[in-house]
Amino acid sequence: MHTNTTTRQETLRVLFGVIPSWRLSQIERALFSPSIRSFGEITTLPALWRGPLHEERVFVSYREAQVFWSQKKDTFKALLTLADGKKIETVLMRNARGAFTVCVSTQVGCAMACTFCATGKMGFSRNLSSDEIVDQVRHWIYFLADHPEVSARISNVVYMGMGEPLANYEAVRQSLRTILAHTDIGPTHITVSTVGLVPMLDRILDDAEWPAVRLAVSLHSADPKTRKEIMPTSYDDFPETLARWAEQYFAKFDSKRRHLTFEYIMLSGVNDSEQHAEALIGFTRRIGKVRINLIPYNYTGDIFRKSTQREIDAFQERLESAGVDVTRRRTMGEDIDAACGQLAVRKRG
Ligand code: SAH
Repeated sequence: MHTNTTTRQETLRVLFGVIPSWRLSQIERALFSPSIRSFGEITTLPALWRGPLHEERVFVSYREAQVFWSQKKDTFKALLTLADGKKIETVLMRNARGAFTVCVSTQVGCAMACTFCATGKMGFSRNLSSDEIVDQVRHWIYFLADHPEVSARISNVVYMGMGEPLANYEAVRQSLRTILAHTDIGPTHITVSTVGLVPMLDRILDDAEWPAVRLAVSLHSADPKTRKEIMPTSYDDFPETLARWAEQYFAKFDSKRRHLTFEYIMLSGVNDSEQHAEALIGFTRRIGKVRINLIPYNYTGDIFRKSTQREIDAFQERLESAGVDVTRRRTMGEDIDAACGQLAVRKRG
C-alpha cells in the first residue's frame, strides 16, 4: 500500500532491492521525457523490471489533474489531487521571452499566515515530497506535449506556489537537484521564493548540496513594524539580520551576475508611501546587489486594496531615482485565480 510519503525510489527499492545509481538516474531521466507515460514504456529498462513497475501508480504522484485555461491562453493552472486526496495547485505562464515559467507548490497549505495571501488563510496541512514537487513540472511537460497549439518550451521554474519552500528544506533541495539533473533548465532559471526563515537561510550558506539557484525574499516592507503587521513570521531586527546574512550569501555564491531579489507587494496605504520608499532605499543600500520586484496585489478576499497605477509609478520612480534596480511583475491568470497569492484550494460546500 502506498502512503503519500512513498517515493519512487523507495518503491523501486522494495521491488528490486539495491539499485545501482546509474540505473536510478536512467529511470529519473525517462521521467522527464514527454513521450513516456508509464514505467512500462521505459524501453531502456530490462523487460523483467518493466512488468512489475507498469502496475505501480507512483509513475506520477498525483492521481488526477484538472487544468484551467486563462482566456488569453497565456496562463494555465492545474489542480492536482495527490495520492492521499490532498490537493495542490501549479501554474504554467508565458514569460517575457515567449517561453513558459512553471510555478510549483512545496506544501499543502502554509503555516506562515501572511495576511494578504490566500494560501496563508488555509493553514498548513503537510509537506510535499520531492516527487510531488518535481511532478508538477512533469505535469506541464506532458501538457505541452499534448497541446502542440500552445507551443513553447519551459525555460524557468519558480518556487512561488502554495507553501513556504524553506520550511520543507530537504524535499525542496532534492527536487531542485532532480530538475537540474534531468532538464535543460539551469540554476539561474530557477528561483526559490521565501518568506525569509533565517535559520534556513543560514543553512543554505553551510550546505554544499544546495544548488546555486536564485533566491527571492518576500520583503513587502523594509519597516520592521509594518512588515510584522502584515507578515506574522517577521521580527524586529530583520533588516540587520538579513543584511548580515546577505553579506555571507554574496561571499559564498560569488558571481558578478548574482543578485538577491526582494519581492514587494504594493498595498495601498500600507507600504506604498514615500517613507516606505525611503526605508526600502536604505535597506537596498545595506544589502548591495539587490533587485526589487514590485508585485501588484491580487485580491484574496481580505482587507487590503491594491495600490493604484499612479501610486506604483511614483514608488518605482522614487526607487529608480535612487539607483535601485526595480522590475515590475505582470499580473497573469487572475481570471482563473492563478495569480500570486491566489492559490488556495477551496473546501467543498
Ligand atoms: N512562501 C513563499 C512563496 C509564496 S508566494 C514566499 O513567501 O515567498 C510568492 C510571492 O507571492 C510571495 O512574494 C508572496 O508574498 C506573494 N503574494 C502572496 N499573496 C499575494 C497577493 N495576494 N498578491 C500578490 N502577491 C502575493
